[in-house]
Amino acid sequence: MKLKRELTTLTRNETENVLMWLNNELPRKSYSQVGRRRIVELLDATKRLLDLTNRAGRRGHGITRWSKELIRCTTWVNQRIRQYPASPIVMWSPKGSLTFGEDFSVRPRIEDEAATAHCILGLAEANVLARVRQCACRRWFFARSKNQRSCSATCRHRLYEQTDAFKTKRREYMRRYARLKRSGKVK
Ligand SMILES: [Zn+2]
Repeated sequence: MKLKRELTTLTRNETENVLMWLNNELPRKSYSQVGRRRIVELLDATKRLLDLTNRAGRRGHGITRWSKELIRCTTWVNQRIRQYPASPIVMWSPKGSLTFGEDFSVRPRIEDEAATAHCILGLAEANVLARVRQCACRRWFFARSKNQRSCSATCRHRLYEQTDAFKTKRREYMRRYARLKRSGKVK
């Protein structure tokens, strides 16, 4: 029970780290254009890897079909994560408790990028990476449900306004309104 709770806390921290990085909320020195591209590529490839794995086998029966794409994707993710070598480290938190983290053997400039890359794999392992999504407004968010596509109610409505269902409804409304106007029932 305790382990599960700790894992949940870990996942929450990892989600927060990834979202902060993706949404440019860290100090400016944490970012470079290539670094940003590398992280988004890793995120996409890891999501793809999970997706391919799910489709390659039946749950509990192992992978039954190794496609070339699945192998290519696995190799790609492994090569990319190897660019962020890390070793475990123990340290003290400001509150005085012993914490366990990772020490990255990378240039200081890409330490935040490396931490984000490791968090992405952590979220994949916890099977929640597919919930890390980008809204139409460009903001990254964690989807609380499978179907959530927007970061906020405002964005959800904006997205709905672009759908055919909304356009049809709106057209019908305008037509009805025009008819009422002609009949003199509304001004
Ligand atoms: Zn949004």
